[in-house]
Amino acid sequence: MSYFIDVILPIPLQKLFTYKITEAEAGFLQKGMRVAVEFGKSKIYTALAYSIHNSQPIGYEAKEIHQILDELPVVNETQLKHWDWIANYYMCSLGDVYRAAMPSAFLLESETVVQLVQGSYDENGLSNDEFLIYEALQYQSQLTINQIVEILGKKTVFPIIKELIEKNVIVVKEQIYEQYKPKLVKYIRITNEWNSDNKLTLLLENLSRATKQREAVLVYFQLKATHKNVKNELLLNEIKGSAAVIKSLIDKGIFETYFIQTDRINFNGDSNDIKELTEPQKIAFTKIKELFKTKQTVLLKGITSSGKTEIYVKLIKELLKNKKQILYLLPEIALTAQLIERLQLYFGEYLSVFHSKYSMNERVEVWNNVLESKQKAQLILGARSSMFLPFSNLGLIIVDEEHEPSFKQFDPAPRYHARDAAIVLSKLHNAKVLLGSATPSTETYYNAKQDKYGFVELNQRYGNVLLPEIELVDIKEKHRKKRMSGHFSDRLIQLITEAIKNKEQVILFQNRRGYAPVVECETCGVSPQCPHCDVSLTFHSYKKELRCHYCGHRQAMPHNCGACGSEKLNTKGFGTEQIEIELQELFPDVNVGRMDLDTTRGKYGYQKIIGQFEAQEIDILVGTQMLSKGLDFANVSLVGIMNADNMLNFPDFRAHERSYQLMVQVAGRAGRDKKRGKVAIQTFNPYHQILQQVSTNAYEEMYKEQIDERWQYHYPPFYRLIKITLRHKDFNRVDDGAQWMGKALINIFKDNVLGPSTPAISKIRNYYIRTIIIKIPQNQQLGATKNAILRVKNAFQAIKEFRSIRINIDVDNY
Ligand code: ADP
Ligand code: ZN
Ligand code: ZN
Repeated sequence: MSYFIDVILPIPLQKLFTYKITEAEAGFLQKGMRVAVEFGKSKIYTALAYSIHNSQPIGYEAKEIHQILDELPVVNETQLKHWDWIANYYMCSLGDVYRAAMPSAFLLESETVVQLVQGSYDENGLSNDEFLIYEALQYQSQLTINQIVEILGKKTVFPIIKELIEKNVIVVKEQIYEQYKPKLVKYIRITNEWNSDNKLTLLLENLSRATKQREAVLVYFQLKATHKNVKNELLLNEIKGSAAVIKSLIDKGIFETYFIQTDRINFNGDSNDIKELTEPQKIAFTKIKELFKTKQTVLLKGITSSGKTEIYVKLIKELLKNKKQILYLLPEIALTAQLIERLQLYFGEYLSVFHSKYSMNERVEVWNNVLESKQKAQLILGARSSMFLPFSNLGLIIVDEEHEPSFKQFDPAPRYHARDAAIVLSKLHNAKVLLGSATPSTETYYNAKQDKYGFVELNQRYGNVLLPEIELVDIKEKHRKKRMSGHFSDRLIQLITEAIKNKEQVILFQNRRGYAPVVECETCGVSPQCPHCDVSLTFHSYKKELRCHYCGHRQAMPHNCGACGSEKLNTKGFGTEQIEIELQELFPDVNVGRMDLDTTRGKYGYQKIIGQFEAQEIDILVGTQMLSKGLDFANVSLVGIMNADNMLNFPDFRAHERSYQLMVQVAGRAGRDKKRGKVAIQTFNPYHQILQQVSTNAYEEMYKEQIDERWQYHYPPFYRLIKITLRHKDFNRVDDGAQWMGKALINIFKDNVLGPSTPAISKIRNYYIRTIIIKIPQNQQLGATKNAILRVKNAFQAIKEFRSIRINIDVDNY
């Protein structure tokens, strides 16, 4: 009898591929183990065993596998079921899902590049083959797997490489490589010189004229009596003074700062007990558990700072006790250092963080810990891709800030929505899902209203702090009355001045980075365009250059207009960088910081800026929407939104909903501690209904209007959307192709086809783009619809001149 194995290859292949195995291999192999196989022109891939059987493939001669790479499955049955669902629902191949799901170290292939890990090794510990690779890497900084095949003179090299990776001799080269490093916490202590009781009197005498400093020293000693280490932040809070007081003491050699790293592995269960829930929180908590008896998914709608996180913590604690695994999904890990720290203090010994930007070894370590159900990986905190970990006993998935757009993956396939895919995953585990948000997405709130999800509301901020007071500042009027300085209204300047005077901090939000979005010639009106994309370039004043935010193209700021030669080039609109510069002119004595993609690019960029702001070294923080995410600063009393209009005018059916969410979230950063915060929103259009709704906290009203519009214009949740994108370097070809496909689809779906249309940005990286959207009414069968679309796609690709057109299909593309 012959034996065969069907495998998933990590490439967009529609079908599984069949290889030949020996009887012994058939006895050993299990679904979910990896095997090295050859595919295409002597390319080697890491494939995943899917089924073992005795039937010869039809249409091709099965090749033999190279070798088996695992002794036990690294992917379990539940995962494979989940992958099947994702591939089916999001119309991609299992190979796409496989590639997205696994850490790249698990997916060696002939093109993979390896490098030596810095450091020295005991060469005696290496086998002959391992040594040959090690030696070759002494002469050459990197090797591809193909080169290793040549060096060793054999094809079966994956196990050797795997071994070298496990011995930490080599690593797979990656572009993104950022080791998780929690931020350093800053502490204050008295210098040795002054640190004795008999010197204290002298010290206080010396400071008799500097009352603030004298008081700071006294407060320090008070704190020292109850704290082993005195946090800079704590001292600052207690003296109610500014960082300048402490700085003077440091300059005088009386105080010094030191840092303690809150280590991610070595947990010391300090005095960080879980907080007692308040009455409203207790009620919400009990209700969630009650609802979980009958509902698989519950939405917790709690206003900003109501203590949603504390409720999650209580649930997590119960599940940990019951030995269940918990997945805590966050929109973006890099932005949530504060939350990670908080959970680390509570659950350090159970908690692992998983993030695609962490180093490969860390990811492999977490994967293996989850696979082996280790305690250290019982609670996983991660961005959307952590949903692919090999859970076997999941009890709860928390989707925090469920409305966040970053839960959706747009490119490459699988183009999945982590919230929706998590709900499916939890069904496979018979687990529960808790969605949390202050501003739920329209779809989720609709599902709650339809009683599909359980619903719990929390309408009080912790400590009964009032929601910030929101003021709309009419800048059209201010312009008319000449009350603007640059992009600042007199009212905003006044509010900033007050906050700074009260030693409070300010956050200013501007939805664009760079100095000014576009440069325009005053003479002929032409703006410099990206040579590869259909967008205007953005001016960045710091480096005096123009950049494309779509492809990264950069060029020096020209002196003359490229079209007419005029020297009158104007900057139009404004970005974070310009706000920062204007602020420095308006408030020369104030420390201004900026948080956007440009300033946070470095390894620990975010943590650094957040840390500085926390330590009150920055008084005013200017930033993009990064600022809206879960940051918790006690001392922020004012949030300013520089221009609300550019979000509202975005051409997308969710623009209003998103603007509402973004503004409410940004506003939620104000006054989280004791005092009521203030939010100033500058706009040309203060009567816009969304702005009115933001300022009166009218979520319900906003939702009602949105859902009516969705109903009227046939959008989700009433209609599903599938978007097809066609791309080609040849303008005419993609245009012809889109016309052809549009006609074919209209034949089937009639009025429910939008397009083909040219998107607002019609060319990116030299590819011209066309899109077609298919709307699917609720009573139209989804499976049949997708099959019909695939048939059109196959027919399209059978046409010779269209074959080179790239096609993406995006299900629920919003
Ligand atoms: P949300 O996630 O709803 O925005 P958080 O859970 O971050 O709110 O809570 C806001 C702040 O209030 C945090 O600093 C948190 O530590 C504090 N807080 C919330 N609930 C409690 C509680 N029951 N006891 C003590 N502090 C609490
Ligand atoms: Zn010109
Ligand atoms: Zn570009």
